[in-house]
Amino acid sequence: MTFPELSGYLDRLESTTSRNDLVKTLAELYTKTSPDEIQPLTYLIQGRLVPFFEPVEIGLGEKLVVAAIAQAFGTPLDDVAKLFGRVGDLGLVAAQLAGHGSSSALPVTEVHARLMDIAGAAGAGSVEKKRSLFAALLKHADSASAKHLVRIALGRLRLGIGDPTVLDALSFARKGDRSLRPVLEAAYNRVSDLGLIARTFWAGGEPEVNALEVTVGRPIRSQLAERLPNPEAVIKKLGPVAVQPKYDGIRVQIHKSGEVVRVFSRNLEDYTRMFSELTAAARGLTDDTLILDGEAIAYSKELEEYLPFQLTASRRRQHGIEQAARELPLVAFVFDILYRNGRDLTDLPYEERLALVDEVIAGSTVLLPAPIIKTDSVEVLTKTLLDYISQGLEGVVVKRPDSKYQAGARNFNWVKLKRHTSGELSDTVDLVLLGYYFGKGKRAEFGVGALLAGVYDAENDRFATITKLGTGLSDAEWRQIHERADTLQVDQRPARVDSILVPDVWLKPEVVVEVMADEITPSPRHTAGKVGDEPGFALRFPRVVSFRGADKRAEDATTVHEIAELFRQQRERKQPA
Ligand code: ATP
Repeated sequence: MTFPELSGYLDRLESTTSRNDLVKTLAELYTKTSPDEIQPLTYLIQGRLVPFFEPVEIGLGEKLVVAAIAQAFGTPLDDVAKLFGRVGDLGLVAAQLAGHGSSSALPVTEVHARLMDIAGAAGAGSVEKKRSLFAALLKHADSASAKHLVRIALGRLRLGIGDPTVLDALSFARKGDRSLRPVLEAAYNRVSDLGLIARTFWAGGEPEVNALEVTVGRPIRSQLAERLPNPEAVIKKLGPVAVQPKYDGIRVQIHKSGEVVRVFSRNLEDYTRMFSELTAAARGLTDDTLILDGEAIAYSKELEEYLPFQLTASRRRQHGIEQAARELPLVAFVFDILYRNGRDLTDLPYEERLALVDEVIAGSTVLLPAPIIKTDSVEVLTKTLLDYISQGLEGVVVKRPDSKYQAGARNFNWVKLKRHTSGELSDTVDLVLLGYYFGKGKRAEFGVGALLAGVYDAENDRFATITKLGTGLSDAEWRQIHERADTLQVDQRPARVDSILVPDVWLKPEVVVEVMADEITPSPRHTAGKVGDEPGFALRFPRVVSFRGADKRAEDATTVHEIAELFRQQRERKQPA
């Protein structure tokens, strides 16, 4: 497949307004690719060169791209800059200037390899090198190709293709339906690399995909926790449980292979360099290969005190990493082990895994074992919860002692219990901003009146609306939202957004906010949980509590499934059996 052919598909995908068409178009594109092409192509359609967990960046900023465009098309730099000022999108600028060029159709694999060369250029003279390599690539591109090349280079090719959409499309391309999605998804949960899944599926079919194993160096998708309202509900539903503190820090998955250690975040980013003290501590462990799961948190050993989340979060930075590590060192409370010396441990019962954790990290002062208390008593659970809260922890996570580690799953093998248990909704939810309405009066100054927010429908890879948001934000935060919204604004409803309401401005689903509400009510106006003529769900008296930073992608927001479960729990509390 040539890059111009791919660009034609990217154009089609960009203008699609229905998620079904997204899957079908992508499936059609896949049917035209060979096993060699499918891997790079899968990264490219998500605007990347490698899987999410590999820290490879093309490293071309706007200024360099402007210079490369000027060089490629022999246009004076000033003219390019002026055009950019008028059009506001460098992709469109490149498309305009490339318009007349004769296109030489490079294969997708070649374009990918050249972009990798650009990403790999480092050291003295690398800026020059990146610019001229990119200019050379643009020079012979046709208009659509130039547009997409520029967007990929700037990290702005966001067609809104979520991971489940890619999996559906792969299944569709081979089978004509979604029936292989579970097989592909299970493999994805083990290896977190869509390109690898695609190539394996294309070359070896279902059996080879099933044979993809947990591997050190590739993050496993994190197991997540369900919610229950109180200790009674927990013991009733789970019986005997292993109770652990819920640390309010940052999830880390630590991979060790000999001297090589890598640390991954919950959404698959590479934190190896950022959390260097954890990396060093893992390197010192005696086992040859390991995968550990835990929570990194700033902890004062002198005071024996857990520090607030904001302090831990301040360690997520790109600059001044060493100084920050000295001033505010982290520890990691390790609560799971998934792999040891060549053996996948995810099928072992939790209790056995935790016993191995103690053995593996014994003696470390940075990697510390998360304690457990085993109980089937509501009193003991309640007391433990209150005790941990008084120590400054968030609450508890209870786990089924005999459960496997289910990669990527959110189920009742793990349940979180937090502090607020009195209100109707016992926990906050994370919502994705989908659009906004122009304000009247004071808020109009900030350009945003109310926000339309939604939850994630993980099954169908869509975003469904659940509420409008108008309160809880300071003036400064409204202004901040308006600024973010400016860069996310789109002309039409994104294909993955499902909404009855039509806001004044649609947004690409990217910003996640934490919201508290009084209760969940049925509503015919919202699409979250809506099936046929049945009403969906809405939030009553929602208020924004905080912006979620980089730790949550839109796909990590609260799901429709969780809302339905919270609604069920709320109804049970109102009408005790
Ligand atoms: P929240 O926003 O409530 O922290 P979340 O949406 O980030 O939750 P959940 O799956 O709901 O994620 O809650 C589990 C998270 O709690 C884990 O991802 C992990 O970061 C954190 N955590 C803290 N302590 C533990 C523990 N002992 N066991 C498991 N997870 C823990």
